[in-house]
Amino acid sequence: MANVKILLVKDENLEPRDIKRILESFGFEVPHVASRDDAVDKALKIMPDLILMYMVLEGHIDDIEVVSKIKKLNIPVIVLTTHFEGSEIENSKVAEPYDYIIKPYDPTKFKHIIELTIYKDKMEKEEFLENIVENIPNMIFIKDAQKLNFEMINKAGEELFGHSKEEILGKNDYDFFPKNEADFFTQKDREVLHNRILLDIPEETLETKNFGQRILHTKKIPLLNKEGNPEYLLGISEDITELKKAEKSLAKAYDELELKVQERTSEILRSKEELRLTNLYNRELLEVNIDPLVTIGPDGNITDLNKAVELVTGYSRIQLIGTDFSDYFTDSDKAKAGYEKVFREGFVKDYPLEIQHKNGNITPVLYNASVYKNEKGETIGVFAAARDISQLKRAEVKLEKLIGKLEISNKELEQFAYVASHDLKEPLRMITSFLQLLKMRYADNLDEDANDFINYAVDGAKRMDNMINDLLEYSRVGSQKREFKYFQCEKIVELVLTNLKPLIEDHNAIVTYDSMPIIYANEHQMVQLFQNLISNGIKYSDKEITKVHISVIKKPDEYVFSIKDNGLGIDKAHLKRIFTIFQRLHTRAEYDGTGIGLAISEKILHQHGGKIWAESELGKGSTFYFSIPIP
Ligand code: ADP
Repeated sequence: MANVKILLVKDENLEPRDIKRILESFGFEVPHVASRDDAVDKALKIMPDLILMYMVLEGHIDDIEVVSKIKKLNIPVIVLTTHFEGSEIENSKVAEPYDYIIKPYDPTKFKHIIELTIYKDKMEKEEFLENIVENIPNMIFIKDAQKLNFEMINKAGEELFGHSKEEILGKNDYDFFPKNEADFFTQKDREVLHNRILLDIPEETLETKNFGQRILHTKKIPLLNKEGNPEYLLGISEDITELKKAEKSLAKAYDELELKVQERTSEILRSKEELRLTNLYNRELLEVNIDPLVTIGPDGNITDLNKAVELVTGYSRIQLIGTDFSDYFTDSDKAKAGYEKVFREGFVKDYPLEIQHKNGNITPVLYNASVYKNEKGETIGVFAAARDISQLKRAEVKLEKLIGKLEISNKELEQFAYVASHDLKEPLRMITSFLQLLKMRYADNLDEDANDFINYAVDGAKRMDNMINDLLEYSRVGSQKREFKYFQCEKIVELVLTNLKPLIEDHNAIVTYDSMPIIYANEHQMVQLFQNLISNGIKYSDKEITKVHISVIKKPDEYVFSIKDNGLGIDKAHLKRIFTIFQRLHTRAEYDGTGIGLAISEKILHQHGGKIWAESELGKGSTFYFSIPIP
């Protein structure tokens, strides 16, 4: 057996030279180490085919250890020993050497044992390797370098091809795969063999009989002969179809995820932008608002404000923020009380305060404020808007002044009317008296025309007297203080009807009335009022039987009386005009009167805090309404 390397591990007690000589005579190469302690290192260095080791089995635990270590290197060990006993052998089983050679050595047997051991070891190793190749899950194949026919293929290859070893061996790629694939494999094979290098093909497709198209990761290596020429081609292919599929779906999932992330990102950006714009918009709204707006924290300090606040206080935003809001009012206690009220009740409405400008100017305002809350619903502050009411206040003052002036001028006017009418009466009385005297004394001496003229003049003077009386009456309504009391209204109506008895009879009139309430008013003026309205109802009628009905309805805070007649009616266009002094819709020749009754009635109602109005249509009768407040 040529080239067999046997490492001899010597022992000083035994004579190794005989052994070495014997072994070398068989043609073995016999390197040696003097001590068993060096055996493992040496073996690692020279990797012998076999180790021969002297061993005194009895009690030598070190020897057993060395044998165990050598065995781990996968090198067969043969133990040389001087004597043999079953129990000792049993002891050394731990190390399980290949065999024992016991002195005295029989060279022939010795040779046999060595050759057998080496052969057995080789066979075992080959089998082991074959087993690996056969069972490895990757396809392993060998092709001959000339024809590229398969020389060997493992189980994984058979499965992938869908053919048995017998069917595959001796054939080439064209026998199993489509031309384009076989061309590709062949080209790669040739490349490997030509360049004599390992070729890594990360991805190649293989159309298989049983599993459809598979994707392989293949490595191809040339196997060279002693002369260095390629004799075979070794290929190892890993089926990466599932990996690729997983990679693909992973990539797809990743793409989808990426897309979603992008969508979500742009959504966030969009809503962020929207939010920014909304904030900006809200901010703008707040800023352009002419009303001073502030937000106040729970400690009463200003947290935000708009431009109007700066203008009304004279302080800048930076100066205002963080300061006590109540400092900017003429009455800071009242401001604080208002703020506490908002916290207590959730809001305040039209809370009056005065803002003090740093230059001393005062702005009267009405505050409307409400609490604002965080997402958890906790109150975190107050939002307050002030409405500047200085103009309103100024207008109010102006109005009051104007009313005052008007009252004075009314009073003066009434005074004037009273005085004028009173003073006019005297000369009028003189005119009338002298006219009558003239008539009495000279009636017979004057011609008919002159008498008529005197009559006209007397008539005119009488009319003027009536008008002056009415005017006096009218001015008296406003100028005199009247006593108000509760009384039964029915009594008034009855009194008026008694007063109007001649008129009622004259006109063949029927006056009816509902049950009347107790009212709070001036009795005398109520008589005047009812008398004016009832007499008008009777007077302005062309009916055979004139009907007048008085009714009343009670409203929450007033009585509304109505006096309805079936008379002439009034054109809608004149319904307002008739309440003006001396305004009449009929001539004196048609219906007697001075045109002051409704004006007086209106004045009476104003004095009572009530109103008068009429509803009518020409030819369809009229209804006069008036209201008297219920105190
Ligand atoms: P007078 O009755 O003295 O003319 P009033 O002030 O009482 O004065 O009335 C003003 C005018 O309103 C009357 O001249 C008449 O033309 C009209 N008027 C008042 N009451 C009625 C009524 N009930 N029906 C129709 N016309 C009326």
